[in-house]
Amino acid sequence: MRTEIRLYDTYEGKLREFVPLSGNEVDIYYCGPTVYNYVHLGNFRPTITFDLLTRFLKEEGYDVKCVSNYTDIDDKIIKESLKEGKSEKELSQFYIEAYEGCLTQLNVLPLYCHPRASEYIDEMVDLISTLMDTGYAYKGKDDIYFSVKKIPSYGQLSKQKVEDLESGKRIEVDSLKKDPLDFVLWKLTDDDGIKFDTKIGKGRPGWHTECVVMANDVFKKKMIDIHGGGFDLKFPHHENEIAQSEAFNNTRLANFWMHVGFLLTNGVKMSKSLGNSILAKDVLQRHSGNAVRLFFYQSHYRAPVNYTEESLTACDKTISRYQLCMTKGKHRLELANIDTKGNLLEEDYLSFLKALSNDLNTANALTVVDRLVKETNTLLAKKDGDLLRLRDVLTTLDRLFDVLGFFLPVESLTEEDRKKLEAYNKARAEKDYPTSDRLRPLLQEKGLL
Ligand code: AMP
Ligand code: ZN
Repeated sequence: MRTEIRLYDTYEGKLREFVPLSGNEVDIYYCGPTVYNYVHLGNFRPTITFDLLTRFLKEEGYDVKCVSNYTDIDDKIIKESLKEGKSEKELSQFYIEAYEGCLTQLNVLPLYCHPRASEYIDEMVDLISTLMDTGYAYKGKDDIYFSVKKIPSYGQLSKQKVEDLESGKRIEVDSLKKDPLDFVLWKLTDDDGIKFDTKIGKGRPGWHTECVVMANDVFKKKMIDIHGGGFDLKFPHHENEIAQSEAFNNTRLANFWMHVGFLLTNGVKMSKSLGNSILAKDVLQRHSGNAVRLFFYQSHYRAPVNYTEESLTACDKTISRYQLCMTKGKHRLELANIDTKGNLLEEDYLSFLKALSNDLNTANALTVVDRLVKETNTLLAKKDGDLLRLRDVLTTLDRLFDVLGFFLPVESLTEEDRKKLEAYNKARAEKDYPTSDRLRPLLQEKGLL
């Protein structure tokens, strides 16, 4: 029987039972990076969260398609490519490859697809021209804008009233727009940056149009199951995606809107523009991908979390403990000629899934892992530990680690290692301490003890 899954939906502002819109299929789209430089660690928090959600839903038997885009058309990309003397395409390709290197290190599952905004220009132009025909969009003096006032539900996602937004200073009054809330769908320009000569004029798309078009197009659906990103994307990015979807498809684009809390440095949001970024590629040189995942899992995905080097070092230690437990446990079974494939411990497995089904409560899920790691160590410490129980504990741990995306491989013993381990165990049993003392460092060096 499947676990009842509850996820926090920002649009409704509450936890709701998650049921796919169509049969067994789950479509997830989360906003990816603007590829104009190396991304910081915070950019990977949504990536890890939606990878975990994908893994969990797959474990529950759903057929999940997870998609994330690359924003490869943006004024920041143009500025940077001029600075670096490269074309926008070359520049984004370079940073996409750097990003994908981190995805591999973080053991992120391959996505259903990874669309780039530059590949969807025709579809964006079609959307914008339809919005113009239906009166939702208009040509200003310089750009094509979306008329926000035409959408009565505008502000529902970010829980803001249109009147408050208008009177607030956050929105700059722009004399080229009919209303200060209106946003750019297509920037009409003949500047040196990337541009496309189309039926709506020469120029390039606005960011909010890029994502709504890609989300609709890759799934060929007007409404998908889950759309997500970091907290900062609620407004205006996601609010503006919803507005276009309401106008074009009469839907709110996604059944669930999920937002991931910020990674902070010294209590302040990690951000490229604030200059307090810790680059993901640098962190991944100092710490394993497993440790980065564990660091994020220790907090709830919606809560802010502060980056410290010490907490990542502590996560590395915990991961080494997990690795050693799996290595020692599986080798003990090998030495006893017991096949490592056992049965899942149902109670532990179900309580792990139950924790994740409660809006991805990773901290509670980790308590099940810790309990099983402890039990493994207790069984290993006993001379006559129950090896069949050990086998079931390890089988369960393997499954839980897989759902969490931890990569903890254990190589089979070589003949030489087997002999050394046997000699070590025999020496200890016979209290031949000089021999066991000589063998211990050799075995420890290979991670066998
Ligand atoms: P950007 O390239 O700035 O559009 O960001 C790509 C993704 O990273 C988006 O989903 C952002 O919401 C997310 N993001 C950016 N900064 C942070 C942060 N400090 N913590 C968590 N997520 C972030
Ligand atoms: Zn987006």
